[in-house]
Amino acid sequence: MFSLDENSLHVRRLDLWIDSPAQRSRCFVSHGHADHARAHATVITSPANAKICALRFSKQSPPRFETHAFNDPWELDGHRLTLFSAGHVLGSSQLMIEGELGTFVYTGDFKLEASLTAEPPEVKRCDVLLMECTYGRPHYVFPPRAEVAAEMVTFARETLGAGEVPVFLAYALGKAQEALAILGNDGIAVTVHGSIDAFARVYDEAGVALPTYERYRTTFDGTSALIWPPFRALPKPSNGRRMRTAVLTGWSLDRSAHVRYGAERGFPLSDHADYPALFRYVELAQPRKVLLNHGRRDFVYRLRAAGIDAEYLEPNAQLSLF
Ligand SMILES: [Zn+2]
Repeated sequence: MFSLDENSLHVRRLDLWIDSPAQRSRCFVSHGHADHARAHATVITSPANAKICALRFSKQSPPRFETHAFNDPWELDGHRLTLFSAGHVLGSSQLMIEGELGTFVYTGDFKLEASLTAEPPEVKRCDVLLMECTYGRPHYVFPPRAEVAAEMVTFARETLGAGEVPVFLAYALGKAQEALAILGNDGIAVTVHGSIDAFARVYDEAGVALPTYERYRTTFDGTSALIWPPFRALPKPSNGRRMRTAVLTGWSLDRSAHVRYGAERGFPLSDHADYPALFRYVELAQPRKVLLNHGRRDFVYRLRAAGIDAEYLEPNAQLSLF
């Protein structure tokens, strides 16, 4: 029996919680973003995400980590469980559960496009697919990643050339390291916020080659691009240079989204699947049933219109899948 108990995904038969926002005795944590990662008594996750979570939970009592490498299945109460890459951020993982009633996949946050800093994503065939649908409306079609990267580089070069400071607002985990790779690989000097540096060290330990960068110090003179978490006060360069801010988010496709972040402009660099990629995932996985959580509720009608059996997961829903 699979259910949504207390607003948390729960596989009752295995007493396994999935990305629960409340602390649990045993929970699968798909990736290290703050809305998914909690210090449960036992955290089941990938080795790279365990390191990210350990860093995030460093001020709390540390959980016990049960780590599983991608595509290295293990047995649990007569079921076979497998983690595989979601391509969202470093260590982000999907969960597959195979049992006598069929195969179930939980995607967590995912994207299908390859990136510079996350493991390549994978799709597996399944009977029941539980997927996120953050960008589940038809106008969310991201431009090719290389095109967005080229625009970011142009913005950085032009801003630095004008004697100003390009500031990229990016989540400290994932987006910031991707921005660092894009800018640094093009020879642009980059300075990052301390929290971004801390996660970048985990990337480095995991073997992701990032370009060299500076960690922000108060002596920052504004002659490099700055990568900074959104909604944090911006520093002032020591020589008083003007800053030009750009937020990195898929929501930039909405015309005034950058305003919500207090930025002058936005670039649609996303770590999620866009609308066509959500459909592509379903095509590749060929499930007989799609369940949705974490995103646009009306995506369920768009799937049904395409002839796909889909349901939005309601609180306390009980589904006899396992
Ligand atoms: Zn995420």
